Amino acid sequence: MSWTRRGFLAAATLGAGAVTSPAASAGDGPDGLAAIDTMPNLCAHEHWGSLTSIGHTDVGFVADAVAGAASGETGLLDLLLDPYLGGFLACGGFDGNRAARELGCESLPEAIHQRPEGVLEALRPHLATQRSVGTLMCIATGVRELYGFDLDGLSAANWRELDAAIRRHYTDPFAWYREAMGRAHLTGPIRPVELSYMLEAADPALAAHERAFTHALLRVDGFIEWRRRPSDRVRYCIERTGIEPHDAASWRALLEATFALAQEHGCVGIKQLQAYSRDLEFAPHADGDIDLADDSPPAVRAFEDFTAHECCRLAHELSWPFQVHVGTANLPRSSPLPLEALAYRYPGVRFVLLHTWPYFDESAYLAHFLPNVYIDTCWLAILSPSFLEEALRKYIGFVPSHKLMCSQDATSIEMAVGSARHNRTLLRKVLGEQVRDGRFTKHQALEVARRALHDNARGVYGA
Ligand SMILES: [Zn+2]
Repeated sequence: MSWTRRGFLAAATLGAGAVTSPAASAGDGPDGLAAIDTMPNLCAHEHWGSLTSIGHTDVGFVADAVAGAASGETGLLDLLLDPYLGGFLACGGFDGNRAARELGCESLPEAIHQRPEGVLEALRPHLATQRSVGTLMCIATGVRELYGFDLDGLSAANWRELDAAIRRHYTDPFAWYREAMGRAHLTGPIRPVELSYMLEAADPALAAHERAFTHALLRVDGFIEWRRRPSDRVRYCIERTGIEPHDAASWRALLEATFALAQEHGCVGIKQLQAYSRDLEFAPHADGDIDLADDSPPAVRAFEDFTAHECCRLAHELSWPFQVHVGTANLPRSSPLPLEALAYRYPGVRFVLLHTWPYFDESAYLAHFLPNVYIDTCWLAILSPSFLEEALRKYIGFVPSHKLMCSQDATSIEMAVGSARHNRTLLRKVLGEQVRDGRFTKHQALEVARRALHDNARGVYGA
């Protein structure tokens, strides 16, 4: 990574122009698939706003707990030290607390605020080694497309102009999202959030602005992990519904009332991420197996399984999709294969397997054989475009074209725009090869891309 090059691309003006790739203006391109670059891409699993600068609690981000959350204190360092890249930098050896102490600050957020140049300097060697990893690739691509700024040329002399432009956008992030989405041909987003997001506003005007184009999925994680990790997010549902759970029947009533409130407020489905901490084998249980006062591991596990089944039962009745986090962590216990039993038992639920690395074969198997299992490759470009490429090669050829979706799973619109670019480039590459091999026509390839980028998500979420 060169740190001496001037950051701004030649004659670029911050925020100007539509996002196009060279190929997009070259007719159909040599592969005849240039239309893929400008097809709408429905972002069906996003975390835009999951940034420390906008706020977080012990169980998640403020942007998921309340609508209209914004912060003009969001700058370049907040985008770079988002939960993904910030985490990966730590895994790679960047010690944010030590860096802060060396700068005379008590914490990294304080150092970002008071000594941003010092933080940038401390980050440089670590950013250089992350430059070949998907997360920083996506941020760099998005920043280049949206701001005309080349992060490879970031320096103490040029970073403030970019930082100021980002801060301006984040005073009303929703106006910024819409502008950036228009330029990158993105639609949606659909975001997994808490019930409180659907009912509470940080700022009424900004909340109305956000809700005008954002669709909500109810996160059910708080319920499933309630015995191990009681949290305010479930406490909020208890207070809102007036149902204090003490046994299986009252717990079920709380879930029913929560789902009903969510549906009333426009919720389009549910999402869970249990595979971070356990396997996805959820055994059915009778009410009599559930004891809310028993803290033993088997009782807690039975409670989790019972709750997962109740969520599936309600989603089945409501005809809701269910996004399930698969793989990426907790290997090898995060395989999607145990979900087969749930998919058979609840045919009204459209199960969407998220990310799926490294379980591409297992996920392809489920999506091929079960009518109600789908795949969203979201987060793959952000983890590694190579993973996405491998996944597309596996899926296109075995998974029917109405089952595949390509969202971003980004924490910022900047990262999402970068991820979407990689989605388009790799769809074009993989489909182009298959057209050249005579597997299907250009017209059929474009149809596969249109479904994966947009139409399938519309069908699954009705959004
Ligand atoms: Zn996610």
